[in-house]
Amino acid sequence: MVTLAVRKNKAGRVIELEHQYGAHNYHPLPVVLERGEGVHVWDVEGKQYYDFLSAYSAVNQGHCHPKIVDALISQAKKLTLTSRAFYNDSLGEYEQFITSFFKYDKVLPMNTGAEAVETAIKLCRKWAYLVKNIPENKAKIIACEGNFHGRTTTIISMSNDPDSRKDYGPYTPGIELVPYNNLDALRKALEDPNVAGFLVEPIQGEAGVVVPDEGYLKAASELCKESNVLFIADEVQTGIARTGALLACDHENVRPDVLILGKALSGGVYPISAVLADNPIMLCIKPNEHGSTFGGNPLAARVAIAALEVVADENLSENAAQMGELFRNELNKITSERIELIRGRGLLNAIVIKPMKGITAWDICLALKDNGLLAKPTHDHIIRFAPPLIITKEQILEAVDIIKRTIKGFDK
Ligand code: PMP
Repeated sequence: MVTLAVRKNKAGRVIELEHQYGAHNYHPLPVVLERGEGVHVWDVEGKQYYDFLSAYSAVNQGHCHPKIVDALISQAKKLTLTSRAFYNDSLGEYEQFITSFFKYDKVLPMNTGAEAVETAIKLCRKWAYLVKNIPENKAKIIACEGNFHGRTTTIISMSNDPDSRKDYGPYTPGIELVPYNNLDALRKALEDPNVAGFLVEPIQGEAGVVVPDEGYLKAASELCKESNVLFIADEVQTGIARTGALLACDHENVRPDVLILGKALSGGVYPISAVLADNPIMLCIKPNEHGSTFGGNPLAARVAIAALEVVADENLSENAAQMGELFRNELNKITSERIELIRGRGLLNAIVIKPMKGITAWDICLALKDNGLLAKPTHDHIIRFAPPLIITKEQILEAVDIIKRTIKGFDK
């Protein structure tokens, strides 16, 4: 009992330290994790949980995947960072690997998702001036209401979420929002000859796993083609097998002109992101016109190769498709007045909660935690469920049982 009390204090102390010395820009669930393996994480008291967030889909390959961690360690002992002032012996091999994996001519390596989105925006604008001949400073990018593309100043200029945007102005100009999943609105916006790109999430993850109608992405990409506008897919969250295909755009046979990847490109061990495009677009950016000290470093290169090999070797797209189907089917069997809707694709899913008697998604996530499953609300009434893609049938059934017990506990 004494050790338990001491350990309990440890969790409290960690939370207190963060509160006192860290900026208050997050509101974490009160659980302090110290270890992860596969689909599980353990807190400082040794309690085991299913991780149904996977670090916002960065840990698709499972926590501490041995092959990815080995790649990290062995490269870390040799060479970690050279900057792009010099060549390193890993980057070219990674560039060849990732471009053949996703079938593009070229890759531009960055670190975080937001940086990759910024890179795509800059690339699109360069292309607009050099190739499409849009008059200087007139290029416009269309994005969607409800989007989440990251936290930088230009990106939050695209956001219509007050939490992301308010009091951070003045905002970057040259952006227009259209409603998501609305082809008429897109068609109308594309009438402006100064539109350079359409930036879209194939499924809006942070908005609460909003899945557009079938055919939306295909039709949107065709409209862009007709208007000589770049179709830019932000697959930072949906990409790398999460939705049951390597890319969520693959479900509709859409090949984005510019593809943005992040998160699971490293299996969660290191910040790695990438922008992929073909030569006529990518070569618009010339030496010294864009860069990053850490982007394309040898450590990232080796980690990303290993992370993508795991996705292919372990058939994670197929597993995500099958386990996702099972998960939604089983969730749909739960009868509870709390559940408004279950939606998703592959292993990117959400339950929309009926707000009743003041119980929010946050309250349900706290109870899920107590019952051994970690998930995080997006907005007040939506819980996203996105486990590592290596999850097995037995684990899905056990997790559904936890979700069922927890939600039914609120019906009483
Ligand atoms: N784009 C999308 C679609 C995302 O979901 C996120 C992160 N949730 C980002 C970009 C930003 O990624 P990062 O936090 O690595 O900057």
